Amino acid sequence: MAGLLLYCRAGFESDVANEVQDKASQLEIFGYPQTKNNTGYVLFNCYQAEQAELLVKKLKFSDLVFARQHFACQQVIEDMLPTDRVGPILQACADFPLCGELRVEYADTTEGRELSKFCRKVSVPLRQALRKKNKLTNKENPNKPVLHVFFTSNDKAYIGYSFSNNNSPLPLGIMRLKFPHAAPSRSTLKLDEAFQTFIPKEEHDVRLQGGLHAVDLGACPGGWTYQLVDRGMFVQAVDNGAMDEALMETGQVTYCPEDGFKFTPKKNNIYWLVCDMIEQPQRVAKLMATWVAEGRCKEAMFNLKLPMKKRYESIQGALDIIEQVMQSQQAGKYCLQAKHLYHNREEVTVHLRLAAK
Ligand code: SAM
Repeated sequence: MAGLLLYCRAGFESDVANEVQDKASQLEIFGYPQTKNNTGYVLFNCYQAEQAELLVKKLKFSDLVFARQHFACQQVIEDMLPTDRVGPILQACADFPLCGELRVEYADTTEGRELSKFCRKVSVPLRQALRKKNKLTNKENPNKPVLHVFFTSNDKAYIGYSFSNNNSPLPLGIMRLKFPHAAPSRSTLKLDEAFQTFIPKEEHDVRLQGGLHAVDLGACPGGWTYQLVDRGMFVQAVDNGAMDEALMETGQVTYCPEDGFKFTPKKNNIYWLVCDMIEQPQRVAKLMATWVAEGRCKEAMFNLKLPMKKRYESIQGALDIIEQVMQSQQAGKYCLQAKHLYHNREEVTVHLRLAAK
């Protein structure tokens, strides 16, 4: 067998399966997904084994909504002996390209996390052995492929590689963030992760700079507003609920107890529109696209709440609405990205902006 192994939040396996099946077939790479509920990963088996590498190169990781990580899985090893795990893994890697990094990982589930210590332990002799066999560079090299060993139990692992220009740079595909204690709600981490995921670090100084003006729709109690204020921005916080007092005392927040669907800022100086209203995804999608297409803001970051079932179809439907609005308003070229972030639960975060001319 060979295929694509994808990591996700436990419970979202069927969404990943639908997504990878759809997007792989658009690339004319065919196969079938193998899933088990709440395992935190999906294996997409390619009918033609040699297409696994093609798929991991061609399927843009940034286009995948529900996957946290993906790699071309070339082998599954089962029944590994406790006395020798390195040997069979080395054998499985015999035809791999020279890699620049080794990641020994596990699923983000209760069962998976129990393997974390074990994975750390295995990685030490494995790294040495791979270097000896010239399968791993002596010093980590971010320009070379990443070698993945994904353990699902202490005797079974999926082995393969990904390309560092088209994968998640993060261990387990997870962005770990420290909760800022002054923030009024944990959802502050969602916007922080979204900024770090969608805005390249070297552009933060411009696109997230102090002094910019922002609108936060559905702002209360202020977790998202906190992220904007913390970066020195001025925020119009739109919500009928109450805002955190300490945030109001900064002098950077204007409270607007209004309906987010009707709100219009008084001045045309808004850079960021952010929105976390709990509403139908299609409705929010249309609102956000209209703001960007009409030039009422430069960039929008927003959450689309997911239904219980058919989440992939629901998100695709909302993204289609955005594309329709952008086209019907002849908004020009734009960037649209959506991701089920680590700090998201039943929602997906979307970023939309007009492309720089
Ligand atoms: N982002 C906020 C934070 O980090 O603290 C949490 C927002 S909470 C998930 C959703 C908010 O949307 C609620 O406070 C609710 O009052 C607000 N909301 C829902 N519909 C709205 C509407 N039509 N106009 C304005 N606010 C709305």
